[in-house]
Amino acid sequence: MDNKLEEKRQPGKPRILIVGGVAGGASCAARARRMSEKAEIIIFERGPYVSFANCGLPYYVGDVITDEKDLLIATPELFKKRFNIEVRLRSEVRSIDRDKREIEVRNGETGKVYREKYDALVLATGAAPVRPPIPGIDLPGIFSLRTIPDSRQIREQIADRKAKRAVVVGGGFIGLETTENLVRRGVSVTIVEMLPQVMPPVDPEMAVPIQEHLTANGVSLCLGDGVAGFEQDPKGNTLSVVTKSGGRYVCDMVLLAIGVRPEAALAREAGLDIGQLGGIRVDDQMHTSDQRIWAVGDAVEVRNFVNGDWSLFPLAGVANRQGRIAADVILDRKATFRGVQGTIVCKVFNVTVAATGMSEKSLDRRKLNGREEHYEKIYLHPGHHVGYYPGAKPITMKLIFATEDGKILGAQAVGEEGVEKRIDVIAMAIQKGATVFDLEEAELCYAPQFGAAKDPVNIAGMIAANALRGDAPVAHWVDVSSPQAYVLDVREPQEFRLGHIKGAYNIPLHSLRDRVSEMPCDREILVYCAVGQRSYYASRALRLNGFSAKNISGGITNYPAESGGPTSKKPKDTLPPR
Ligand code: FAD
Repeated sequence: MDNKLEEKRQPGKPRILIVGGVAGGASCAARARRMSEKAEIIIFERGPYVSFANCGLPYYVGDVITDEKDLLIATPELFKKRFNIEVRLRSEVRSIDRDKREIEVRNGETGKVYREKYDALVLATGAAPVRPPIPGIDLPGIFSLRTIPDSRQIREQIADRKAKRAVVVGGGFIGLETTENLVRRGVSVTIVEMLPQVMPPVDPEMAVPIQEHLTANGVSLCLGDGVAGFEQDPKGNTLSVVTKSGGRYVCDMVLLAIGVRPEAALAREAGLDIGQLGGIRVDDQMHTSDQRIWAVGDAVEVRNFVNGDWSLFPLAGVANRQGRIAADVILDRKATFRGVQGTIVCKVFNVTVAATGMSEKSLDRRKLNGREEHYEKIYLHPGHHVGYYPGAKPITMKLIFATEDGKILGAQAVGEEGVEKRIDVIAMAIQKGATVFDLEEAELCYAPQFGAAKDPVNIAGMIAANALRGDAPVAHWVDVSSPQAYVLDVREPQEFRLGHIKGAYNIPLHSLRDRVSEMPCDREILVYCAVGQRSYYASRALRLNGFSAKNISGGITNYPAESGGPTSKKPKDTLPPR
């Protein structure tokens, strides 16, 4: 395709029409202006605002952001004055005539329907909250959170209708962020989540600390149960959320946060290719199947950067990057979208959870579909900075990597401080195709307040590299059930007395060398301690003495989450210390 739109329709004045004026649309428009002073750029936005901060909406609900105006990143006036971009609010694009290169627009205020010609059309229509046809879903008091008016309604429900009890349906990041903010407003919250865990992008054991933290903050969890219906009491005062297992949760309001679906109807009706996941299909230059039409943001399906699968990743950074790339390509710059790896972060009360790349469960799902990647995982629990400097907080980290070459496949972390910094570093490493050996060598900034001379990212790389090199192979709690395993606890006796794995032998690290003759030569020795550090030293000593020893990754700290599943149920013969 000839992209030289500058010289096309009207020489020197290409017409770029953009549908949707938030993350993807607004960034595309602004970038297009920086690439061309001549282009005519018009944004059509169905809603009453352009370029608003939807990521800030939960915090407006919670009164952290108190002035609604602070959510407006830009106004039509600013777009006009600063960028010479026209914004038409309350203007819904209803259809696309690809042959004539025209769109049909309806002005929501006047009802007028008109057509506009384009040289390039960008669809940045986003994604709409999922509202399944569950009985009672349209009852008053059931909200979604996507727009400023949505957040205003929720605020009114709290302030004017004195809502005190809420059920949040869905434990993803919008559900969790809104939960925290409802609690901040004095509302007691129950989360109903169909999966057996909150925060679906991370693996179940990594969600356990979040679940415990939610519970500690007074949030009730109903996991592994879906909503069967909503009911209203005869006087219309309260709602009940009825679950498939027969649970009934009475409340004053419901937030539906069960995911979003690409707004692809406009594209579908125009005959553009739609992927199997329901998103608009684009190439790596954000072209749709029509070379004059681009699509960006939550509305599109993208290639997962790590495994090449088509995926949906409704994330603000992705939408912004894609908008920028579409503008570049439209205006004849070479630009290529690299794909998405799913780098996310979410704060719930005092805990931050972040992840990038593949989770173990997504790798296992691929395995079920016959596309097996051979991977290994390691866990660690470093402080977010050195222990001698006051205020160090532990981070629980998980690193997943290919056993063949050590390529990093994914990472997850949970903790109070420094979580997102580590995941950001690993996200960049994944994007550059780095291996665990690169993490070992990564030069990261260090002073006592910020990290350690061996940053948690370095340590993760070292543990993984030690495993791959065969210096310190890792085992996991699932391996302990093998009758062949000799389980060795190298903690101090007082730690052992507080709780240990049934059948484990206790030989503290400091006396291991003197008692090495007690070790079996014909069995694999699985060594554990609190977090995996002393057991690493022990496993090295044993291996150098000719024993077959493995280090149970993450130590007994991991045991409840790994063996107890979604909640940290503790087997009755085991009392791991907290
Ligand atoms: P949107 O921002 O949804 O914008 C699409 C716009 O298109 C809408 O305003 C819509 O009115 C308009 N539109 C649709 N159809 C038409 C039509 N036919 N004609 C005219 N206009 C139309 N992401 C993160 O990465 N981090 C976060 O912390 C985060 N927090 C979030 C919190 C909330 C409450 C929500 C709702 C989202 C959050 N997201 C977050 C997701 C992020 O906001 C989206 O990924 C991003 O906004 C997608 O941008 P977009 O331009 O594709 O779509």
